[in-house]
Amino acid sequence: VNELSGKVAIVTGGASGLGQGIAEKFVAEGARVAIADIDDEGGAALAAALGDRASFHHLDVSDPDAVGALTDSVVEQFGGLDVMVNNAGVSGTMHPSYVSDDLADFHTVLGVNLLGVMAGTKHAARQMASTGGSIINISSIGGIQAGGSVMTYRASKAAVIHFSKSVAIELAQQDIRVNVIAPGSIPTPLLASSAVKMGADAETFTAIIRSMMAANRPLAREGTAEDVAEAALFFATDRSRYVTATLLPVDGGTIA
Ligand code: NAD
Repeated sequence: VNELSGKVAIVTGGASGLGQGIAEKFVAEGARVAIADIDDEGGAALAAALGDRASFHHLDVSDPDAVGALTDSVVEQFGGLDVMVNNAGVSGTMHPSYVSDDLADFHTVLGVNLLGVMAGTKHAARQMASTGGSIINISSIGGIQAGGSVMTYRASKAAVIHFSKSVAIELAQQDIRVNVIAPGSIPTPLLASSAVKMGADAETFTAIIRSMMAANRPLAREGTAEDVAEAALFFATDRSRYVTATLLPVDGGTIA
């Protein structure tokens, strides 16, 4: 407890799923957490439930100027920025056939998953320039492993890894660390939304993903948002002070 006492953190996509787990963990560890999300209702409700150290801020991460304004206002309100978690993401269509797909959400998926992370990294780094800090970018096991579905999503998540490792080299000069977490499949609304886009019902789809994952995951149990939050806590604190440009899968040891 209180490993993040006195620290200020922003968690994008913090209103749901893995971002919510990270926001809850950081608040429990004493941080001041700004939950930044497009979901006003969910974000405001979560911030209220988490108490005084949590606040909600409307943000669409695919708008770089809005990301800049958000980091400015957080620093103005809370006196600094120590930790930036670029977590907001969307799954996009499943692309059963990439060739015949109309690529309708091509720009949305790259805009949120990749450009959102790039803008979040840039504007957080601008605020951390004189103090140092930790930037945590959320990729996915789908950004490491190839597969015959969600190709745009996989491409966006692979790009997050390469971008983060590269920008970490420049930012190391200012003592800003940049690390990447690649979660395995964890039941959240994001998985359910992929199901709806496929025309399957969310429960059936989640059950299929669960059994697929179980088959090649050495650690027998399913992952949770809290498992991912533990990794985020490591990267957020001084425990990882000599760690940057690193990719950490949190996937129960999943074998490709
Ligand atoms: P989720 O759908 O539960 O939460 C995503 C949050 O991001 C939501 O609150 C949503 O409102 C917000 N969001 C979406 N678009 C946004 C935008 N443009 N601006 C701001 N906020 C926006 O999903 P999740 O499973 O918690 O996913 C969180 C991150 O983890 C994503 O980047 C996802 O790709 C990644 N991830 C998830 C899994 C998994 O199995 N759940 C696996 C690997 C990686």
